[in-house]
Amino acid sequence: MEKPLKYILAEHKLTLKKAFGQNFLTDGELLSEIVEKAGITPDDTVLEIGVGAGALTRQLAKCAKRVIGYEIDTRLKPVLDDTLFGLNNVGIVFKDVMKEKISDIEKSLGGEYKIVANLPYYITTPIVMNFLENAVNLTSMSIMVQEEVAARFSAAPASSDYGAITVAINLRGGAKTVLKVPREKFTPVPNVDSAVVKIDIEKNKFAGADLVAVRDIVRAGFSSRRKMLVNNLINGLKLTRVQAETALTKAGVPLTSRGETLSALDYVKLSESVKAVKNG
Ligand code: SAM
Repeated sequence: MEKPLKYILAEHKLTLKKAFGQNFLTDGELLSEIVEKAGITPDDTVLEIGVGAGALTRQLAKCAKRVIGYEIDTRLKPVLDDTLFGLNNVGIVFKDVMKEKISDIEKSLGGEYKIVANLPYYITTPIVMNFLENAVNLTSMSIMVQEEVAARFSAAPASSDYGAITVAINLRGGAKTVLKVPREKFTPVPNVDSAVVKIDIEKNKFAGADLVAVRDIVRAGFSSRRKMLVNNLINGLKLTRVQAETALTKAGVPLTSRGETLSALDYVKLSESVKAVKNG
């Protein structure tokens, strides 16, 4: 029988730190549902970001081949020695994951891996963007995020939730909300509800596209939501009006479009036509 969180914290004289986004999960049923929705099998290597007191880690370790967890707060070391005792397929790295290179993390993981994380909300966007842009062996990310962020991740073009991060996700795969999680499930209770989003990476999606160049166009496209895309391209990419209009026409995008109406595929096509226009 696992010990309740409040006893573990009291035993170790530990108070949770708001600055590290320490809102912990304790509900065993919810934890196994997260692992199930993440599709973890005994063949999987899992990267968990922010292990906290190890409640999700334990659940992951029961289903996965191996779990590597990152935790910034070294005060949790004795807690984790206790809560993860006896598990021989878990390794914890006490480092700030934001300061790690994805290539170094991937080297230590060996091959393909899945991310499962109850992320501290203040690093959600940079973490997700960093893995989308740099991960090579990642196959899926199942992450707890604020409900409104979940809506943004899977939004349709032209909707108010659609943004640069939606396009970034759709360039590598697709996202869907797999679980809604009310705020009361966390200790301490935060002031927002959450959801688990699963981002599946499609290995050869847009194979051959220059994604670095596409991301530059996306950045320009969303740089000012009130402006038309043509003006954002002129300002962001240093194109002449004629070049920007020619590129849009070649890509089949109406000249009056705004950046938030284009799909990931539209951005890939636009990137190719911008390259053609720039090369004369
Ligand atoms: N996984 C645990 C759970 O579900 O109960 C804890 C989740 S809590 C929302 C987020 C955890 O991430 C905290 O333990 C916090 O200390 C850790 N954390 C915050 N920033 C981090 C960073 N930059 N690198 C690694 N861990 C971090």
